[in-house]
Amino acid sequence: MADFPLAPGSTIGILGGGQLGRMLAQAATRLGFDVAVLERDADSPAGRVATHCIVGAYGDTAALEQLARLAAVVTYEFENVPAQAVTTLQALGVECAPGPEALAVAQDRVAEKQFLNASGVATVAFASADSAAEAVAEATAMGAPLLMKTRREGYDGKGQRWVEHAADAAAAFTELGGVPVILEAPADFVRELSVIAARGRDGSTAIYPLAENHHEHGILRRTLAPANVTPNVAFEAEKIAARVLKGLNYVGVIGIEFFEMRDGRLLVNEFAPRVHNSGHWTQDGCAVDQFEQQIRAVAGWPLGPTQPHARVEMLNLLGDEADTWRKLAGEPDSRIHLYGKRDAKPGRKMGHVNKVKAL
Ligand code: AMP
Repeated sequence: MADFPLAPGSTIGILGGGQLGRMLAQAATRLGFDVAVLERDADSPAGRVATHCIVGAYGDTAALEQLARLAAVVTYEFENVPAQAVTTLQALGVECAPGPEALAVAQDRVAEKQFLNASGVATVAFASADSAAEAVAEATAMGAPLLMKTRREGYDGKGQRWVEHAADAAAAFTELGGVPVILEAPADFVRELSVIAARGRDGSTAIYPLAENHHEHGILRRTLAPANVTPNVAFEAEKIAARVLKGLNYVGVIGIEFFEMRDGRLLVNEFAPRVHNSGHWTQDGCAVDQFEQQIRAVAGWPLGPTQPHARVEMLNLLGDEADTWRKLAGEPDSRIHLYGKRDAKPGRKMGHVNKVKAL
């Protein structure tokens, strides 16, 4: 069992080798930790900056055993880690943060909304359906239009269909693969906001200011932070974040996405049990960014400050937009973060730029 606070020189394990894993690994090594990444791809963004890269699937017991031998603590860079991988690691004596309960809630859009509502946090009205007939019945009862999403494994707007008439719910159900779905009432929001928050092993919390997000084709394009919000909205977001963290007995960083409604209410759309794209602004807007915060939390260190020292516009660099690095490098206010991905497929997140203005 790990001894907290974890001493520099210890190894932190990360499941997943994408850009979030890479930036977590960079933050961990800056604090003097070694990093072991478990990832299927031998040439991953995180694997290339980690001390150790174990190549294997998350269900590969030998790979998990190798990770358990190296790492004192394991965390993840994405939410769809199989529960089995976490229980295997725990059985091998490794601390996993966030814990399996938080993962289970975040992996299922229905369980997530049920947890939120039971915690006194508002969401859109919703229903679940496991068959085409049930989808039509629920859509008829709720009234269209509705947004149908797969209960599990959707991201960046994938796995979603608008249902304009209740009768169309059967076709949408089939198009989404015939898997269990959630039906959501449309949120008539004025803005999308998000908050990055953290909870330490001692139950302390640290909450960054709200960010305003703009999506295109379901993918985050641009984040403005700190968002220009009323003190009431800021207070509401902090209250919700604190409730969610406590309710999940959470350790680590969480990203919570909100719809800001016309009347100023905040509805939670979803949360991600990990560092979040809408929190990349903290790298150049705060002394301790979300990546270091996650490492501090899982290592049992005190959480860092969250007040901003700059206003940041974060732009994702998708596909060949990353080729603009030459121009960006000449802009004094642009901080460039590139993920080292070899293949610039259209829409793929290749990097981001934080355009910084001192507050
Ligand atoms: P999600 O995968 O749940 O984050 O959804 C992706 C995007 O779809 C969100 O950022 C919103 O722009 C939009 N969206 C999701 N759910 C709803 C909803 N119930 N009503 C309106 N728009 C939604």
